[in-house]
Amino acid sequence: MKTIGLLGGMSWESTSGYYRAINTGVKEKLGGLHSAKIALYSVDFEPIEKLQHSGNWQGTAEMLSHAAQKVELAGADFLLICTNTMHKVAPQIAQAINIPLLHIADATAEVLVNKGIKTVGLLGTAFTMEQDFYKGRLKDHYGLNVLTPNEADRKIVHNVIYQELCLGNSTAASKTQYLRIIASLAASGAEAVILGCTEIGMLVAQADTKIPLLDTTYIHAQKAIEWALSDVIQKN
Ligand code: GLU
Repeated sequence: MKTIGLLGGMSWESTSGYYRAINTGVKEKLGGLHSAKIALYSVDFEPIEKLQHSGNWQGTAEMLSHAAQKVELAGADFLLICTNTMHKVAPQIAQAINIPLLHIADATAEVLVNKGIKTVGLLGTAFTMEQDFYKGRLKDHYGLNVLTPNEADRKIVHNVIYQELCLGNSTAASKTQYLRIIASLAASGAEAVILGCTEIGMLVAQADTKIPLLDTTYIHAQKAIEWALSDVIQKN
């Protein structure tokens, strides 16, 4: 079994979801007392969030590259950045390490392509919804048509992430807003909606709506399990 490297803490609420999903999946696949081999470096999110909102992405790239090198030194065979937003600096992080990076947008796009979905809604932070590092990858590498909410709704989605979900809070009012926004993406032609922020699964679940939801935390974790067990599965 390979050792899964996790660059987490953004926020720790969602990193705990990764830890649980990965260990649960490995236990299901291997049985007994098996659990995942994980090297986790969990950052302090407050300074990262300050750098994001002041536009100092170079500062975040330096901090996260340093943390990623620690994950590699701890013995990880490959790395997951446990947040969609910080994939903005994924190229710099990938350059700083000698192990492969499992990109969250690639894992998600693969599921969409396998389902034959062409037009997809995207919820996430304003950075993820508005900039090209994520949407552009889905369009250019996988030919997907990506829809995002209108400006007012993007603000709502963004604020709920930083003011509630990253603090471990989820409210009925926010859930109602998210479900309304998901429905409006579907009305605009989205065949499915990407929960493109690793905390959104704490607020909405597939049981809440008929529209297929792609929870990036779950998808990224499942792909990590596949990579980690690829040698084990091939040998058996
Ligand atoms: N975890 C979130 C994401 O997946 C947002 C927190 C962050 O800014 O990294 O984008």
